[in-house]
Amino acid sequence: MSNVYEQKVNDFMAKVIAKNPSEVEFHQAVHEVVESLIPFIEENPQYKDAKILERMVEPERLVMFRVPWLNDKGEVQINRGFRIEMNSAIGPYKGGLRFHPTVNLGILKFLAFEQVFKNSLTTLPMGGGKGGSDFDPKGKSDNEVMRFCQSFMSELFRHIGPNTDVPAGDIGVGGREIGFLFGQYKKLRNEFTGILTGKGLEWGGSLIRPEATGYGATYFAEEMLNTRGDSLKGKIVAISGSGNVAQYATEKVTQMGGKVVTLSDSSGYIYDPNGIDAEKLAFVLELKNVKRGRIKEYADKYGVEFFEGKRPWGVKCDVAMPCATQNEVNEDEAKTLVANGCFVVSEGANMPSTPEAIAVYQDAKILYGPGKAANAGGVAVSGLEMSQNSMRYNWTREEVDAKLHQIMKDIHATCVKWGKEGDYIDYFKGANIGGFVKVADAMLAQGLV
Ligand code: NDP
Repeated sequence: MSNVYEQKVNDFMAKVIAKNPSEVEFHQAVHEVVESLIPFIEENPQYKDAKILERMVEPERLVMFRVPWLNDKGEVQINRGFRIEMNSAIGPYKGGLRFHPTVNLGILKFLAFEQVFKNSLTTLPMGGGKGGSDFDPKGKSDNEVMRFCQSFMSELFRHIGPNTDVPAGDIGVGGREIGFLFGQYKKLRNEFTGILTGKGLEWGGSLIRPEATGYGATYFAEEMLNTRGDSLKGKIVAISGSGNVAQYATEKVTQMGGKVVTLSDSSGYIYDPNGIDAEKLAFVLELKNVKRGRIKEYADKYGVEFFEGKRPWGVKCDVAMPCATQNEVNEDEAKTLVANGCFVVSEGANMPSTPEAIAVYQDAKILYGPGKAANAGGVAVSGLEMSQNSMRYNWTREEVDAKLHQIMKDIHATCVKWGKEGDYIDYFKGANIGGFVKVADAMLAQGLV
């Protein structure tokens, strides 16, 4: 980047940091986007004059609220709830809810900001939002989770609606939580409507929604490999996390002929050199989704190694799929991955690679699919769930999967269109510019609102 652009990026970031102090993840997410966009905006003054980027870093609305609830001992508990309504230029706010003790304003603003670009890339009419709470579902009984969800929705319901804001799941919010939240919304509003996505199949959910993010990130990896005349067949794949995204990435990689050798949780990772096949994955699903146990139990059951407190990036692999959380691959880990021959990174999680790690991928010119493109399959199928709810009709598994696959191909094509630099495809730049243009043009058309 030239010095002039670098100065403009620094000036822009100085204002964002001054206005949003201590929101470090938000600064990081904005910086990643601004780096790609400032040179583009300088060449397209209509966006500059209308201060589109300055408007996009300011949420349209931000709701923060108290969530009081009673634990099983009858003790009063207080958590904090949030909903960030970031941008509605191309559709109702859309984005997940995260329940995790680390949740704060900066983390949710980073996620909401990324969501705007991601949703635009899906080609579907969805704006961007994100929300959640510092509530930790781990170790809580089903009744405690239900009481928390009911209290959370008792405030959130007045800010959302099927044409206004449609939340979904994220870390700590799966089928169980979506059920409790939906039930409370229905009771308060006295209407059965598609207010959340990720619903159960019997009550408005879409087939393939649980699978969508992991499947989508795998389809994206395959698309990237295809540009080099290659495929996932026979590839060794390291995956982090063992939640929703990691589970279905494992399933799809295996179906496409790859071998997944790692999974993790916040306690450490397991390394299974023989690969996590369908039977072992069924054990993981039961362990994580029903028993809510730890991944170490996989190592105990199958006699493989467990590396306590470690992340899986030291394992030799062709493809890495970070599917746990933000900033889970640092510079040294990225260097180790590349040195060990890894040449594809497809991000199932949001912002899992630090800026320094991304620089390592770019310098090595490996195939790097950033989260806002590679993990957009989840929200894409959420968009398809909204369509099916509006039609009061359900597509088959094959129909939804085919649409998801096509959307991932389209996202890949958009990244190539905006990110191609000679022989190299900068997917990072491609995703940022490709996601920006549609939202920016809609904002221009709608005037200063
Ligand atoms: P889950 O809650 O189902 O699983 C999260 C997994 O990541 C768990 O294995 C968890 O381990 C691990 N994890 C969470 N926080 C940390 C941490 N601080 N350090 C180490 N491990 C951690 O969440 P999802 O699978 O839904 O989400 C995973 C990622 O994918 C997130 O970045 C999310 O934003 C992103 N994403 C999810 C989408 C979806 O459709 N669900 C869509 C697009 C992106 P433990 O159980 O020990 O906490």
